[in-house]
Amino acid sequence: MTLAEYMAACLHHPEHGFYATRDPLGRAGDFITAPEISQMFGELLGLALAQAWLDQGAPEGAILAELGPGRGTLMADLWRATARVPNFHGAVRVALVEASPTLRTIQARHLAHLKPSFCAGVEDLPDGPLFVIANEFFDALPIRAFQRDGTSWRERVVGLAGDDLVLGLAPASARPDLGDVPTAIDVVETCAPGQAIAAEVGRRIARFGGAAVIVDYGAMESREATLQAVAGHRRADPFAAPGEADLSAHVAFGPLMRAAAPASAYGPVPQGVVLGRLGIAERAKSLAAQLDGAALQDHYAAFRRLTDPAEMGTLFQVTGLAPKGAPPPPGLDPR
Ligand code: SAH
Repeated sequence: MTLAEYMAACLHHPEHGFYATRDPLGRAGDFITAPEISQMFGELLGLALAQAWLDQGAPEGAILAELGPGRGTLMADLWRATARVPNFHGAVRVALVEASPTLRTIQARHLAHLKPSFCAGVEDLPDGPLFVIANEFFDALPIRAFQRDGTSWRERVVGLAGDDLVLGLAPASARPDLGDVPTAIDVVETCAPGQAIAAEVGRRIARFGGAAVIVDYGAMESREATLQAVAGHRRADPFAAPGEADLSAHVAFGPLMRAAAPASAYGPVPQGVVLGRLGIAERAKSLAAQLDGAALQDHYAAFRRLTDPAEMGTLFQVTGLAPKGAPPPPGLDPR
């Protein structure tokens, strides 16, 4: 099977899928994400989205959507931080795009005060100005990978060797549409579902207004094999225990940004730079004033983890979408 079929089964199989059957997030789980590290992440990105809403004339009937909300932590922090933006809470309806029944239950409980609606995909979102946040969502979408073989390309596929799942190569096929790949590059990954989602979000933002802030690890273009497995906060073999490890791949932002036309795309800008522009140092200081001892040490460690180039500050990148002619989402303006 293709890597995409394998990833989809490992993550979403109703009985055995990694996301379908558990809450993998947090210190006790399999991996930890930025909103679980510090409340500052959701607060600052939430204020950036609310500013984009103000910049576009504070439209009524807007949709505030999160893709892959995990435990709902980012949305809860965003909501609290935007309480004093005049009429923002009254003007938006919250919609959550979530595939996992287990995580939907957790989100419904955690975010009950927001009365969210749930959607299986972005195409099911209600019409209206669309303000989207997505953290570590696109990296979970199924990828295909192609390996150069002389003048042709062969797809990397999963097969059986005895009782073991192994990576193999399908016979050479017609060259997939990979664009211009520099000759030094031997493996290219593609993510058709990610491009389809970016296209739908971009189409809606161009038509109804709105903005998107997309955070993930990755780079402008896919230039190597990046499929990885993480279980219990450790790197694992992606083929050793299907459904027991998180599978993800680096996000290629270029194809997403191109798919989102006719909306204008900005970035990618390193996460540490964006959070810095949004005022994380000031926010960290004001939170620190109420803390001491171990809590204060943890708070500064979380600040460093989100922003330091040696931690998540550079590996994670932020891309934004806005209608043509509207200002870019705050933090993403080209300078
Ligand atoms: N944004 C959260 C969670 C990241 S984990 C955080 O930062 O903590 C990835 C999230 O995307 C999970 O909620 C997972 O269930 C969801 N997800 C993965 N694939 C999906 C898909 N195809 N459709 C909808 N949600 C999906």
